[in-house]
Amino acid sequence: MADTVRYGGGDNSVLRLVLHNTWGKKCYWCGDPKEFNDIEIDHILPQDAGVKDLEGLKTAYPLDEDFDIHGVENLAPICARCQRRKGSRRYGAIGIVLDALRTASRYGSTIVKKVQKFGNSGNVAQLLLGAIKADLNDPDVRHVFEDYAPALVQKLALLDEAKADYICSRIVGPPLTPYNPLNISLALDNGGRTAVAIFEDVCGCSVEEVLRGPIAEIMAESHRKVQARLEGMRYYSSPIFFEAPYSVSTRLVVASISYAREGPLIAFTFAGEFEDDVSATAVRQGDDGIGLVEFQEDAWTSGRFSFTATFDFLAEPESLVLDACSIDWWGLE
Ligand SMILES: [Zn+2]
Repeated sequence: MADTVRYGGGDNSVLRLVLHNTWGKKCYWCGDPKEFNDIEIDHILPQDAGVKDLEGLKTAYPLDEDFDIHGVENLAPICARCQRRKGSRRYGAIGIVLDALRTASRYGSTIVKKVQKFGNSGNVAQLLLGAIKADLNDPDVRHVFEDYAPALVQKLALLDEAKADYICSRIVGPPLTPYNPLNISLALDNGGRTAVAIFEDVCGCSVEEVLRGPIAEIMAESHRKVQARLEGMRYYSSPIFFEAPYSVSTRLVVASISYAREGPLIAFTFAGEFEDDVSATAVRQGDDGIGLVEFQEDAWTSGRFSFTATFDFLAEPESLVLDACSIDWWGLE
């Protein structure tokens, strides 16, 4: 596909900037919005895949014959946390990987064009890159950034309001259970923030409340998948007892909220991504055939979800009806 723009040694900051921008300024693995300095370039399929590995991968994934492991068709922006996490998993859940490869392939030619055009603006591109790379931990840099960066946003907004859009992150709390493994956040652009304002201020509903049911559905489904996998492992041929799997940590990011009005009804559609780290304690017969051994198994599920909540202004009392949560599974490890 793109043989002129690829990952190489040295300074990759232009490529990193273009990837960050094109992929929506977020980590492609967890979906969290990230600042430029907090992302790295990731090889979706690992760059150390050997020739034999790569041939195998080409069969496992629908890759082009000329697929380049260092090409834009295999590069995406990732945060440090996900980089570490992914590193220990080799290829990651097949669903995430396939999805990312499809997106990378779709963005490929745009990224190549943007990288190639980067310097054509005289020094403006370099100056902007310098500003984006600014280390805001330095108080002097931070002050000057706070004073003058808004002028850039204002300039953009005067060109076109939509161009000055940005994603805001908000943690949804407080904890839902006494033992709380949940980390729930909203990462929304202007359209999403408008939807939340209508949902909360006009309809008087709470985002935290409306997420409870879908989160419970996601966790229950995740635990069912993990239990089914554990029970299906050949390794457990001896009699075995499982305690119900439980979530060690669950992350959920609501990445979009849209709304549509029809008469007295407003339908809000919430969509986003989740990850669930699950543990299960089990008991098997000891190797000596006598006694029982307790052990623990860990698994990880991740995927996408969406659900619709419909608010009825005419109902007495005003009511909010939730459709079942649709879960689009990426994988289980
Ligand atoms: Zn991440």
